[in-house]
Amino acid sequence: MDTNPVIQTEGLTKRYGKILAVDGLSLTVPRGHVFGLLGPNGSGKTTTMGMLLGLVRPTSGSFSLFGSRSDRQASLRRVGAIVETPTFYPYLTGRQNLAYFQGILGRGTARELDDLLEQVGLADRGNDGFHTYSLGMKQRLGLAYALLGDPELLFLDEPTNGMDPAGMAEMRELIRSLGTEDRTVFLSSHLLNEVEQVCDSVVILSKGKLIAQGSVAELLKGRGRIRLRTTDNAQAATVLAALDWVEDAKIDNGTVFVTAPPERAAEVSAALSRAEIYLTEMTSGQDSLENYFLEITSEEGAAQ
Ligand code: ATP
Repeated sequence: MDTNPVIQTEGLTKRYGKILAVDGLSLTVPRGHVFGLLGPNGSGKTTTMGMLLGLVRPTSGSFSLFGSRSDRQASLRRVGAIVETPTFYPYLTGRQNLAYFQGILGRGTARELDDLLEQVGLADRGNDGFHTYSLGMKQRLGLAYALLGDPELLFLDEPTNGMDPAGMAEMRELIRSLGTEDRTVFLSSHLLNEVEQVCDSVVILSKGKLIAQGSVAELLKGRGRIRLRTTDNAQAATVLAALDWVEDAKIDNGTVFVTAPPERAAEVSAALSRAEIYLTEMTSGQDSLENYFLEITSEEGAAQ
């Protein structure tokens, strides 16, 4: 089995005139499971995918797919992608559209189409005209298109864009099921909860730069969020912010939010009672990727 990382980039950079869309990106995507490229609009996700797919020429830096820097054509045969939604023919059925692209791309066999339609939940509608499909069904057909020939690496750019909440939930479940030991899904998203739900590992981009990388669990390890209400919130925030194991304590809407390991909640209460401040309410739990993201992107902004 191939043990090379499926994607490796070194100092990958794309400049459009004055705009530095991707700035010296070095990342490694191991084989298998679902890998997320997370960042706000304009942070360089689409440009990064475009470079990896040979659609955008890098300004500098390099990358390899499946350990190979040189044989791009051979590497791309092992890749499926939806970066721009393929243009399907409205009056052909879903199945006919897939068969058409199968012929053009020379990928897979006609027998594979039944399995593919089944896999994306279109088994019942495969013989209906594409123009009768809902947006969610169109996007699922797009996924079937990307899966033609059973690629080892699948690029999905903002796969739930424009979908309603039910469609998004179905699509996420489908994407999770596609990331297996042997198949890597590399998806971009600006939706933190999506990445948290779907991805095993993540790279966070801000203004074209990598600002964090790791598994979602690793990134959030030791980061708890303790919420409390007290007899004197302002004083409580000051007392807690001074503790060296408290990363941050701030007041919002009558509640003190403390970023600290959740297992230290009892010490929070002890520190407050020493200062003669008493708790009226306290809950603690794991921080969300959202808080983490907001914090690191604002640090990044402040550092510039
Ligand atoms: P979104 O989620 O909005 O698509 P993104 O993270 O995918 O954002 P990119 O589309 O890669 O970001 O864009 C990164 C930056 O590069 C943006 O400032 C964008 O305006 C710029 N950019 C992208 N493509 C081009 C282009 N062809 N010509 C000029 N500037 C471009």
